[in-house]
Amino acid sequence: MLPPQSLPTAVSPALLLPPAADVFARRAARFRCLADQHSLGPWLNWLAVLSEAQQNLAATPAIHTVSAQTDLLVAVPAAVEQLRQLFNADAHGMDDFAMALDEAFVLDQAQSVLQMAAGSHLTAAADRSHFLIVAAMQVLWAQAARLRVQQPQMAQTEAHDACPCCGSAALGSIIMAGESKAGLRYLECCLCATRWNAVRARCTLCTQGEVVQYLALEGAHVAVQAETCDCCQGYIKTFTQTKDIAVEPAADDLASLALDVLVGEQGFARGAPNLFLCDAEAA
Ligand SMILES: [Zn+2]
Ligand SMILES: [Zn+2]
Repeated sequence: MLPPQSLPTAVSPALLLPPAADVFARRAARFRCLADQHSLGPWLNWLAVLSEAQQNLAATPAIHTVSAQTDLLVAVPAAVEQLRQLFNADAHGMDDFAMALDEAFVLDQAQSVLQMAAGSHLTAAADRSHFLIVAAMQVLWAQAARLRVQQPQMAQTEAHDACPCCGSAALGSIIMAGESKAGLRYLECCLCATRWNAVRARCTLCTQGEVVQYLALEGAHVAVQAETCDCCQGYIKTFTQTKDIAVEPAADDLASLALDVLVGEQGFARGAPNLFLCDAEAA
């Protein structure tokens, strides 16, 4: 038997991929594309506009002052207020609530978003203020993640079930195409959009079961499948770039809720949070 050091070493893949600087612009474009001819078209288009506002928020000086050490929660109320203006919220169906976004309320809601992101519950009450708070938090957390990924201790990151940057749960997994990452599977954080390398064909939810079955809707969304586990009866979606290079986990997840219904009928429970998934849409 060969001593371990003489075995050829494969080029190890990047364990962590920070969110791209234009992550929200890409998501906006994807929402728009998916909205076309979709039964949830108006909602997906509304999310496209919100994603564009997120990209604009990411470009503001206030976001650029975020450091890897910033207490992000404290920064949420100001970011929400700025996003509200950038989104022109009143013009996008948010005139129905009086914008009583006082600091205490926002901080309280932000705590509940963090719990949701950690996987404690998978849908939120369909309150429009929730969307604004989630959207602002995603921008803050993505900015911090970009800085944290560069820190040396992050290079030693090993297999993780939760996001190595912020501790949130994965929204889904993405099978990469192109570059040096073809075929590699990454999990994407539901809050900061960091991607971390994950072994294929192992259940992400219970870490015990093998992924035994891939379920997909016939015809539509060929790049989106549900990885189901017989061990924990849970599932998480996989988005495959080799089948559709434009696939974007956060957007494609919400455009494929019909798959959740199908998989639910087979007795599997959704195991991954999407912070924009609200009770009304999930029903
Ligand atoms: Zn994260
Ligand atoms: Zn499992």
